[in-house]
Amino acid sequence: MSALVLDGKALAAATEEALLARVAQLKEKSGGKTPILATILVGDDPASATYVKMKGNACRRVGMDSLAVEMPASTTTDELLAKIRELNDNPDVHGILLQHPVPEQIDERACFDAIALAKDVDGVTCLGFGRMAMGEEAYGCATPQGIMRILEHYGIEIEGKHAVVVGRSPILGKPMAMMLLQKNATVTICHSRTRDLPSLVAQADIVVGAVGRPEFIRGEWIKDGAVVVDAGYHPGGVGDIELSAITERASAYTPVPGGVGPMTINTLIMQSVESGEKSLG
Ligand code: NAP
Repeated sequence: MSALVLDGKALAAATEEALLARVAQLKEKSGGKTPILATILVGDDPASATYVKMKGNACRRVGMDSLAVEMPASTTTDELLAKIRELNDNPDVHGILLQHPVPEQIDERACFDAIALAKDVDGVTCLGFGRMAMGEEAYGCATPQGIMRILEHYGIEIEGKHAVVVGRSPILGKPMAMMLLQKNATVTICHSRTRDLPSLVAQADIVVGAVGRPEFIRGEWIKDGAVVVDAGYHPGGVGDIELSAITERASAYTPVPGGVGPMTINTLIMQSVESGEKSLG
């Protein structure tokens, strides 16, 4: 039997429609104000510039505004911190996105952590991570939160399942593992020093690929009936998991493209609208 396709593209599109209505309602109630997401792009990396542009476009699709801040590649940590503090203090800004990665002379962690919790709609601060991990209110980190939203939307059972997350980055693997734990999965986190990865992946009821290497997780490692989530995207339209080998054997999987990818920006925008509603509503 074919696996259920966890269609992130369709879910993101449906969510945008609902957000458009929410923003319109907020605008009416607040005398014409809309939520505003400030995006900060430091330097001129073309991929980062494209991501920021896509985020600005997504804001406009739901009727909210974005404030694009561009800073030169030579920006110092202090200069970026000053800009973040200015945006924290600006009551018209409801969310702050600092595009990752920043040039290497900048202390990225210090800059992420300078973002006010109420405006951390991309879920990148240590405080937000800690609160999320403790089950307290905080905006989730956009990519893993987007994955949780797809799993929830499709009614994927998490409680009591063995989830194996391959990758432990601050923006993906680690928060993913904590979110699954919050939903009562038994979670194994794998990384570059993990021994015998195939045997661990073979135990997974839910496997999340967040490695950053094309088709690194082989189809033959994955057990029949598993739920397969692939966060990767590489040239040639493949992810971090050899999806072509599991489309008949898995119970469900996120396609590449059109699975996890669209949900990341969608979650950022949704959380920006929520922040706007808290502040303006
Ligand atoms: P990252 O920061 O490079 O982290 C990669 C993780 O994989 C690290 O924790 C690393 O372990 C682990 N790893 C590397 N080699 C391994 C191996 N041989 N065995 C087991 N684990 C290994 O990458 P990331 O930012 O988390 O991104 C992961 C993937 O998700 C990429 O494909 C990226 O393109 C994708 N992504 C997608 C979105 C989206 O919006 N769709 C957003 C973010 C990322 P160590 O910690 O030990 O080094």
